[in-house]
This record gives sequence, C-alpha cells and structure tokens, in this order.
Amino acid sequence: MFWLYAFLFLVILPLISYIVWKLVWGPVSPSFPKVLAYHKVTGFEFGGTWMTKKRFISSLDYLLDSGFCFITEDLFLDTVSGKRIGSGREILMTFDDGYRMIIESALPALEERKIPALIFMVTAYAGRENRWELRLPGRRFGHMGWDEVRDLSARGFSFGSHSRTHCDLTRLEIGDLRSELYKSKEEIEKAINSPVRTVSYPFGRSNLSVRTEARAAGYEAAFTLYPSGKNNRLDPFDLRREGVWIIDTCGSLGNKLGQGKLFWAEDLKGRAINRVAGLTPFFKGKSSLDLRL
Ligand SMILES: [Zn+2]
Repeated sequence: MFWLYAFLFLVILPLISYIVWKLVWGPVSPSFPKVLAYHKVTGFEFGGTWMTKKRFISSLDYLLDSGFCFITEDLFLDTVSGKRIGSGREILMTFDDGYRMIIESALPALEERKIPALIFMVTAYAGRENRWELRLPGRRFGHMGWDEVRDLSARGFSFGSHSRTHCDLTRLEIGDLRSELYKSKEEIEKAINSPVRTVSYPFGRSNLSVRTEARAAGYEAAFTLYPSGKNNRLDPFDLRREGVWIIDTCGSLGNKLGQGKLFWAEDLKGRAINRVAGLTPFFKGKSSLDLRL
C-alpha cells in the first residue's frame, strides 16, 4: 500500500500537475525580461511575503554569480516596448508596498552591488502603518514617508504606484478606481518631481477595466504577479513577476528564472500562494475604504 501511495504522490500527481500546467499556462518565452517581486525583508511575521535579510543578500549574490544582471525601470520599459533587445538574463528588482524596513534591511545591499530597484508605494499610507493588511500579531509595519521617498529617489531608486489604499481594484466603482490610479501617481510625482511610469496592481488583481484605466491614467506599464492565460503572452499592462517568498531558496529562485527544469512547479506554487494572498480583501471587506484618508 505504501508503494501505491508513494507512486501516486511522487509520479502520478506531479505528472497530472505538469500536464494541466502545460495546457493552461505553459512556458514563458526565454527572451521576456524577468521581474522579481519582494515585499518585506525582515524577521518572522505571520504571512508568507517576508524574507530574512540574510537570505535576501545570499539570493542577490547567487543571481549575480549565476550570470544575471539587474536593470533599471527605464531599460526594462525599453525592452518591453521593443526599443531594445534584452539578453534574457536581465532582472528588474521590485518591492511592493514601500515598507520602511527595506531602507535598512534591503536597500544598502542593493547599493553595495549597484543593483537598481523599483519600489511601489501605497500612497495614502506613506508614513503610516500598514492598516490595510490583515490584523495578525506582529504584522504592523510602517510605510516609507515622503521625505524617505525623496531621499531614495535622489539615490537612484525608482518609484511606481501600488494604488492609494491597497484595495482590490477590480471591485471598485469607476470613480474610486480612477482615484486610486490617478491620485497615487500624482502624489508620488509631487514627491520625486519626475514622471511615475508604472503601477503594480494590489494583490496582482486586475481586469480589462482596470487595465484600460491604468493606461488612460498615463502609466506606460503595469505589473501583476501571475497573469491569467498563457505565459508566453506579453501584455505591457499585465506584466508577470516572480514572487519571492520566505519558503524560497536559491534553487527555487533559479527555477523561477528558468535556470532549472522546475519552472512549471514554481509557477504553480507562486499561483497558489498568490491566490491565498488575494483573499485578504475578502476578509477586509470591499476595500480599505474605511481606512481611506
Ligand atoms: Zn501589496
């Protein structure tokens, strides 16, 4: 009986998962620019979107030693628009939510290695606690304030919008949707005194209406985590990113970036984790409207 269960779990289940993955999503084109999505670089917290400083730094060195290089938001956008051809080994580093802790825990390691990064701000929470997140013990973290954003922008870090209140944009009326997209862009532009070119959808959630409004608001590109449909489709307003979670190792990071043979398993894992994280707005209500400032 043991061998039957072992056969089912180790052979049949992975085989069926692989076939389903191949039919529904399939491989990513190797030439697509790669994007990593980090959130918190900190000690333990209840949730999966954190990473220890030690592991974060070792992952940077692993990627550099593996021959990857990191590019700026500008170069990345030129690659997406076809103005330049990427090498296929270029990575854009992104951080969602704009947590203050990354100023100490992540950004110095990037500066030491001359790695650029794009940070997505939840503008109504700039300088405030993350009250939009589920209230679990130890989950209160501060977001960067505008003075810190200005300082980091002067040091070469790029900034994009992650909405005003981190709500699920697909559940908003058109007026609220526009407010989230337009005002957040204006607020960051006022702080950094230069155009905000990109937006990252909270929880990675968008639909046709959200993508249309993001384009109308003047963004040049928009990021999700795992787009629906085939992975070899490159939509500038539904750009794929590889989420990096506490359970990830250098090996899994390599697979996410096409280094190993298990990209399909990492894709399925990332989609499953993102699906769970996407339940937050259902627990919090329609949006963070009660917290809207
Ligand atoms: Zn977020």
